[in-house]
Amino acid sequence: MLFLDELPEFSRHVLEVLRQPLETGEIHLARASHERRYPAQFQLVAAMNPCPCGHLGDPRQRCQCTASQIQRYQARLSGPLLDRIDLQVEVPALPPEQLTAQTQGESSEAVRERVMAARERQMARGALNSQLSGKALEAACALNDEERAWLAGVLEKLKLSARAYHRVLRVALTLADLQGEPKPTQPHLIEAIGYRQLDRMLKGT
Ligand SMILES: [Zn+2]
Repeated sequence: MLFLDELPEFSRHVLEVLRQPLETGEIHLARASHERRYPAQFQLVAAMNPCPCGHLGDPRQRCQCTASQIQRYQARLSGPLLDRIDLQVEVPALPPEQLTAQTQGESSEAVRERVMAARERQMARGALNSQLSGKALEAACALNDEERAWLAGVLEKLKLSARAYHRVLRVALTLADLQGEPKPTQPHLIEAIGYRQLDRMLKGT
């Protein structure tokens, strides 16, 4: 697992270099006389603020940034890099009373069991969802014509790229696996698209 905190603070070049291993699971190093490939399969986890001061969208504290500061900050993440980040989730600041509240969530043990069952379903199909080829992914999702047309229409409306199509399918299939469903249906597709928040925010959709 590779965790990058304050993602936009990394140089644009460093972030762009991540695209290749994210896509292929390998790094290619080419020097004058020879080329080497190294395995580089990792899960990328990254965190960022919504703006340089960190308060954009916070109902309790005003953002001090100008519109151009915010735009410059967010523009450090390129569209092609965001395309490759499947789950983009906003984590709003919690009010103190909620931070200290003793709510009983689901136990890690229960979540683990669900994740293990989902992995088993995937291995029974031949590979983890992240490693399925495009063709195998389409076959496993088995969308009917209506579902496929609906998804293409939504992605176009949201100005999401063609690459996002397969990425959304992969997440939707995983959501179905987590629920023990044989294939993803429209609610899984809607949820998967919902995880592309940043992508949509930066494209103004
Ligand atoms: Zn701000």
